[in-house]
Amino acid sequence: MREWIVAGNWKMHNTVAESIALAKAIKEGSTAIKNGEVIVAPTFTALFSVGEAIKGSKVLLAAQDMYYEDKGAFTGEISPGMLKDVGCTYVIIGHSERRKYFHEQNNDVNLKVKKALFAGLKPIMCVGETDEEREKGVTQDVVGRQIKEGLNGVEKIEDVVIAYEPVWAIGTGKVATPAQAQEVHAFIRGILKNLYGGSTADDVRILYGGSVTKDNIGDLIAMADIDGALVGGASLKADGFLGIINNISGKK
Ligand code: PEP
Repeated sequence: MREWIVAGNWKMHNTVAESIALAKAIKEGSTAIKNGEVIVAPTFTALFSVGEAIKGSKVLLAAQDMYYEDKGAFTGEISPGMLKDVGCTYVIIGHSERRKYFHEQNNDVNLKVKKALFAGLKPIMCVGETDEEREKGVTQDVVGRQIKEGLNGVEKIEDVVIAYEPVWAIGTGKVATPAQAQEVHAFIRGILKNLYGGSTADDVRILYGGSVTKDNIGDLIAMADIDGALVGGASLKADGFLGIINNISGKK
């Protein structure tokens, strides 16, 4: 049985004080929720304080990225050990904004996923096609390559979470239809079955991301292979984020 996940990616938003306030509101609003996992991913500068603010609650801490070395002369980078040190359980890897603005390739994503697992962090590996790629009909080629190359050499998939985030749906208000999302999620699970076997692949959480709100999550989560959401914009206000959680909780 797969446990749902709702993860909030706060991107480059919020001061430390604003992050703590948001984290506390999410913590308080999710106390009654029994199943599933709630994750928040603040900026690096707020990780420690948010980690302290959510201690003892059901909310887990994630980073938005990491580097694949332990330490050394890598100005501006952060190691998996440093993320563990401030209380991270999860780390988002290969978000489309990292791929687009910072030129991350599948190979970088792969090195980061393997390093995160080795360090005891759970990677949320993001994949997804652009508008142009969908229009050309190559969605499965692109996503298939991202999955296979991103997981190359990963022997144990249990601690990996996949986020399918069509790039055209991120921050645009243009959410994928439940059928469009389910089609790609089922395709991804099919690849995982080939790579890791049926029962293992059946346990992997595949999240949908792209303009998720409390109003559209109900139809998305009803799909067989959608196990939760990675949320950007709607995770920046406690009400909106808790609304998504409440509309998932008890339905999966
Ligand atoms: C994201 O950036 O991962 C995301 C899904 O953003 P939004 O919810 O704003 O589309």
